[in-house]
Amino acid sequence: MIHKLPILIIALAFSFSTFAQDSYLDAKTDDKEKTYLGGKTYEVKTFTQDFKSKKPKNIILLIGDGMGVTHVFSGLTANKGRLFLENCKHIGFSKTQSADNYITDSAAGGTALSTGVRTYNGAIGVNSDTISIKSILEEAEENGLATGLVSTSTITHATPASFIAHQPQRNMYEEIAADFLKTDIDVFIGGGKTHFTERKDGRNLVEELVKKGYRFEEDLDKIKKVKKGKLAALTADGDAGRLTDRGEMLPIATKTAINILSNNKKGFFLMVEGSQIDWGGHASSTIYIVEDMLDFDKTIGKALEFAAKDGETLVLVTADHETGGMAITGGSIKDGTVKAGYPTGGHTAVMVPIFAYGPGAEEFIGIMKNTDIHAKMKKLLLGN
Ligand code: MG
Ligand code: ZN
Repeated sequence: MIHKLPILIIALAFSFSTFAQDSYLDAKTDDKEKTYLGGKTYEVKTFTQDFKSKKPKNIILLIGDGMGVTHVFSGLTANKGRLFLENCKHIGFSKTQSADNYITDSAAGGTALSTGVRTYNGAIGVNSDTISIKSILEEAEENGLATGLVSTSTITHATPASFIAHQPQRNMYEEIAADFLKTDIDVFIGGGKTHFTERKDGRNLVEELVKKGYRFEEDLDKIKKVKKGKLAALTADGDAGRLTDRGEMLPIATKTAINILSNNKKGFFLMVEGSQIDWGGHASSTIYIVEDMLDFDKTIGKALEFAAKDGETLVLVTADHETGGMAITGGSIKDGTVKAGYPTGGHTAVMVPIFAYGPGAEEFIGIMKNTDIHAKMKKLLLGN
């Protein structure tokens, strides 16, 4: 019995360090956070449903981390009955289970979408045997397409990481950051500068990126002016902050990424993550969820605006899983108020929605596995 004690201590220390950075997992909230009392609304545009081609040249995949149907409806209510998302006329459901768990985490959920392989919770771009599997971003790059990642968490966090890195555990942030240098990604914008600059191995990845030809920026006003070339933008040391701190970072970063990537004649693949819808769910905070849901929907609006004009872009909006078991128990569309309850501070097993707009959108109806989304994207964008 006694000899097992040191192992237990090591295991506890390791699991603590795993989550030390993800403070949102411990976030607690009081009852008043559970009701959104209404706020600023915005105008929603209706876009054309006529597209130039049958197959998309570009795909913009927007992932609302933890975004279930209820999170969407809380946003729709808060904006008094309208969302940009309503331009998506093809809608389905995605089953999110991971290889080893009925309830997925964002690493396995992201890896299923990025590689088409179901893996264990915590895995980044590797299968259940920890073998690296190429992501759709890497395959798009091999086919000469431009590629990009945008996120309101650290760019090394599970969701964006699954599209570019291959590591056995999601908390290996410095190893994940180093994996960015192994690719030719054209644009990435998110938080997480310290994982690139304050490293145990002493490398300065920002300097290495600049040597590789990237323009490096931290300031949103400078980021939004970039129209071409390769851009590495890290807007914060840690995650990008709550909406009050980061402002319009997500819609602006998304527009910037689209501007740069659309220079490529062959097409592009862009993944955009509204990371903190999940963190609002973990915190059982309706205010946090609505705030980030509306920011995410405005970002969807930027993607749709480009896609409507371009006519060859498929816009997909989905989630990796649902967070909080959110239930709307009261509110008013007229007043834009939402009251919700939460049976858990964790993720749930329920199917999540997928919304599609543009050429190929009709493929995304019905009930599918999360890995089917990868297969459909690959077939449409890369033809196999
Ligand atoms: Mg995430
Ligand atoms: Zn989560």
